[in-house]
Amino acid sequence: MKREPSTSPYENSAILDTLRRYWGYNELRPLQEQAIQAELNHRDSLVVMPTGGGKSLCYQIPPAVGKRTDIVISPLISLMKDQVDGLRECGYPAGALYSGMPAHAIQETEAQFLAGRYQLLFVAPERLLTPQFLRLAEKIKIDAFAIDEAHCISHWGHDFRPEYRRLAELKKYFPKASLHAYTATATDRVRLDIAEQLKLRNPELLVGIFDRPNLVYRIVPRYDARAQVLEILKRHQNQAAIVYCISRNDTESMASFLQANRIRAAHYHAGMEADQRRRTQEEFASEALDVVAATVAFGMGIDRSDVRCVIHAAMPKSVEHYQQETGRAGRDGLEAECVLLYSAADAMRWDSLITRNANQADATPESIAASRQLLDHMRQICSGVHCRHKKLSEYFGQAYPKANCEACDVCLSEVEGLADGTVTAQKILSCVARVGERFGAAHIVDVLAGADTERVRRWGHDKLSTHGLMKDTDRKSLTNLVYQLIDNGLLERSDEEYPVLRLNDASRAVLKGQRTVQLVEPKTKVKVKKTRFDEKSWENVDEGLFEALRGLRRKLADQRGVPAYVLFNDATLRDMAKVRPGSPGSLLNIKGVGEKKLADIGQPFLEAISNYCREKRLEMDT
Ligand code: ADP
Repeated sequence: MKREPSTSPYENSAILDTLRRYWGYNELRPLQEQAIQAELNHRDSLVVMPTGGGKSLCYQIPPAVGKRTDIVISPLISLMKDQVDGLRECGYPAGALYSGMPAHAIQETEAQFLAGRYQLLFVAPERLLTPQFLRLAEKIKIDAFAIDEAHCISHWGHDFRPEYRRLAELKKYFPKASLHAYTATATDRVRLDIAEQLKLRNPELLVGIFDRPNLVYRIVPRYDARAQVLEILKRHQNQAAIVYCISRNDTESMASFLQANRIRAAHYHAGMEADQRRRTQEEFASEALDVVAATVAFGMGIDRSDVRCVIHAAMPKSVEHYQQETGRAGRDGLEAECVLLYSAADAMRWDSLITRNANQADATPESIAASRQLLDHMRQICSGVHCRHKKLSEYFGQAYPKANCEACDVCLSEVEGLADGTVTAQKILSCVARVGERFGAAHIVDVLAGADTERVRRWGHDKLSTHGLMKDTDRKSLTNLVYQLIDNGLLERSDEEYPVLRLNDASRAVLKGQRTVQLVEPKTKVKVKKTRFDEKSWENVDEGLFEALRGLRRKLADQRGVPAYVLFNDATLRDMAKVRPGSPGSLLNIKGVGEKKLADIGQPFLEAISNYCREKRLEMDT
């Protein structure tokens, strides 16, 4: 079954044919064409696109159009395997070489490669410049190398990998081949470093737009992380979500808590056995798990495109991390939610970690100062009440064009200020004054809550007028409010081992009524609003049919031993549940259905759609 021919808007008409045949897409995304042309013209390039921007197609299309074999260097075996599986499902010939492969598989892959049967060969960086691979490569002319996750070559990136350093020699061994670096890391320093390390020659620099309009950002005061996470996940039942935590222990206790609440959850961190880590990743990819509570270690290689929610149970240590981690949501372009539970205590925790790491051998005054600066930027975004899309875009050096993004808690007017912020602040500050500015946050909360502890009695703080002054506010909210004051510079926290709270000029101005204070109300249930994006992506989609198709996808993926998203992504399933195609021809018109997939798995999807429509008396081919 072939589609109707159409005129190609692209310089090279074979691009559109390739795009439709293998992937069933009808148009390229911004910058994809330029990136593809650079590879076809053998001009070195550096392509910076946000996660989900569609970098892979940029290096997958050129060898298919140019009828040649290109090499892709990728940092993780799991990432390579998933890509090769995905490509094969599309009928695109690709193979991979990495350490730990059985000898017969290596032989077979090498033979296929030499016979010119692949369009792409994925190679692990440590394997690339070995005598064995160089001998192999000599026998076949290699025109282009694509370097995926190219920031791994840079010390300044957040994911430096020593084995990537050797790629600096690529130009020496393959002087005629062009090099094409791909990354989602946006800072200038990393970009420059990549170009220098790889010795790119007059590279074409293509930088995409960093804003992700399909993500809704929310940054809310944390006052009970578990209850809040549960509340957020209720909005995403049976959907994929990641909960980022700072420590390994936090991931374990969060996952147990979620399991106890009947959520299919697991934890993930670098301290786990490799086997167990892989199992968790695979279960997440195959949709056996919905939620992973993880440290930053859960990252690259998580290619599940239907992650509908990313929660940060605490603030990450840099905006780069935040962007990277939230970037794992909604890679299929559909709506997704990113919630950060923020407390000023997070910044303090990171700060003390930086101080502790400062004593390590490889820490320099510059690197410590840089870490503090990164942290400070993140803190400013969290503590301010400004459009999140705008702030993130600006951080990455791009102006944000809209006055209202309609996709963040601030622009959706969800952030509720405390009605009596100034009075609340005065109560807390006067308590700090009454205890002589000699106690930490926990004790201040005890006194305000009217606690009857040994310490409160020992110091006679039960006799103070501020004892029990805020007994109607729960302790978790109280703690959050104290930290909001610190964050707003209205209260000082000392640097000692047991930090104490002290007043400053700003606090005194508040106490004297010379300054008003705005505080955000901490609560578990935030009244979230539906965004226009959300409504649009579900427009005319039959949700029951969508769920049925998801189930079918899972079943077929299990049978074929591939991750579910490799078959069709959610955007394709929603399109099916909207159009309800009744014939192979109309199924092929759905975005994301290529010829091979139509032949392999088109029939069960058509049957499922037709059965569903008959049962519900729904019209088909709408
Ligand atoms: P990145 O590597 O930049 O994070 P991917 O290459 O994984 O992004 O692409 C993200 C998703 O977008 C994939 O599901 C991919 O199939 C899809 N995609 C890429 N290009 C297009 C396009 N031109 N039209 C429709 N979908 C696309």
